[in-house]
Amino acid sequence: MAFESLSDKLQNIFKNLRGKGRLTEEDVKAALKEVKIALLEADVNFKVVKDFVKKVNERAVGQDVMNSLTPGQMVIKIVNEELTNLMGSETTELKLLPDNQITVIMMMGLQGAGKTTTTAKIAGKLKAKGKRPLLVACDVYRPAAIEQLKINGEKQQVPVFSMGDKQKPLNIAKAAIEHAKKNNNNVVILDTAGRLHVDEDMMNELVEIRDNIELTQTVLVVDAMTGQDAVNVAKEFNEKIGIDGIIVTKLDGDTRGGAALSIKAITGKPILYIGMGEKLSDLEQFHPDRMASRILGMGDVLSLIEKAEQSIDQDKAKEMEQRLKKAQFTFDDYLEYMSQIKNMGGLSSLLSMMPGVGGKINDDMLPDEKQLGKIEAIIYSMTKEERSNPDVINPSRKQRIAKGAGVDISQVNKLVKQFEQARKMMKSMPGLMGGKGKKKRGG
Ligand code: GDP
Repeated sequence: MAFESLSDKLQNIFKNLRGKGRLTEEDVKAALKEVKIALLEADVNFKVVKDFVKKVNERAVGQDVMNSLTPGQMVIKIVNEELTNLMGSETTELKLLPDNQITVIMMMGLQGAGKTTTTAKIAGKLKAKGKRPLLVACDVYRPAAIEQLKINGEKQQVPVFSMGDKQKPLNIAKAAIEHAKKNNNNVVILDTAGRLHVDEDMMNELVEIRDNIELTQTVLVVDAMTGQDAVNVAKEFNEKIGIDGIIVTKLDGDTRGGAALSIKAITGKPILYIGMGEKLSDLEQFHPDRMASRILGMGDVLSLIEKAEQSIDQDKAKEMEQRLKKAQFTFDDYLEYMSQIKNMGGLSSLLSMMPGVGGKINDDMLPDEKQLGKIEAIIYSMTKEERSNPDVINPSRKQRIAKGAGVDISQVNKLVKQFEQARKMMKSMPGLMGGKGKKKRGG
């Protein structure tokens, strides 16, 4: 799995930090030393690691962190932010011209990087967006590449333009654009030839296309499994041809992740997509922030911590914690948490991050997040009394609630049961619950 070993190591390092009430500068230094080793072992570029650790250290030993209620969490938050920055901070989209113009994308990369496969994957994504892509076989050196593109194009139900292997790639590209104009295609994706290593012929060919065709963008495809080689390749392509975006393939098999982590820092160019498998659907948009959270194994819990930090009303947070501990947790609170969590991704990943909870969670205890709407309806069908004192909900009340919410009584039963379990679990949870406290809702 992507980043698995790095992820394991970082999570282990932070497990220790998180548990500590107070942190000393030495604690932070020791943890960061381990982070440094973990990143180097993940094959992240040495200079990138050095800068990264320096930045985190500067921020982490600051007063705000050391004096905060949860210094360990704050350090993790900083690492998360810096990991995000490292990978480009913002999500970068493939640049597309308006539908009435032809977007021309030149795909580049070494042989075996996954260029032809990725080209077809992108075509599928664009098609789903309502674009009309045309794939162009510019790899005239490997007849198999032309064939492969045709097969993949067919699978994606996207037309493939080919002139065999006797024409110059530039001429094929020119003819393809004319073909696109006539056939109403508005994205032309050039699948150019790769070589085993960066060589001059390949570069010259790409330069020739770049200089004679109005490209909307150049996209480099690199293989994550090749680690720092991929980064060096990217650097060379960027210097010789200029790249606008990068696609890192085979991240599904790369447990280290060094290429994905260093490539933006070294080239200055963003990762657009990541390849997560051989199937043509296995291409994911790259979100630096989500990837950082994924590496740290924290789902979107950081958003929750942030929310808690922002609403610094510590008294209310404390009050809530007390209420939870005394199991005075009500359906109103439940509703409040549900709505907060709704847009933050996995509830289970979120709860599993809470100190003392990890491992105690099982899916039965949590509502299916798609069902949240229904759950809300059920809770809104409860009286004020039922919501604040769930113990009064007897079978006849359940029947009434089910009717009001337009659901089966079994769903009300399930919710009440889940609620009881969640309440029990939260009672035993020592950690940060943050939150804005109970908010009154109508209903
Ligand atoms: P090209 O020479 O750069 O055009 O590379 P290909 O598109 O022919 O891909 C080389 C091999 O890598 C093929 O077996 C692909 O199925 C495989 N491949 C491409 N992308 C991915 C990916 O994201 N994950 C995995 N596991 N395999 C990939």
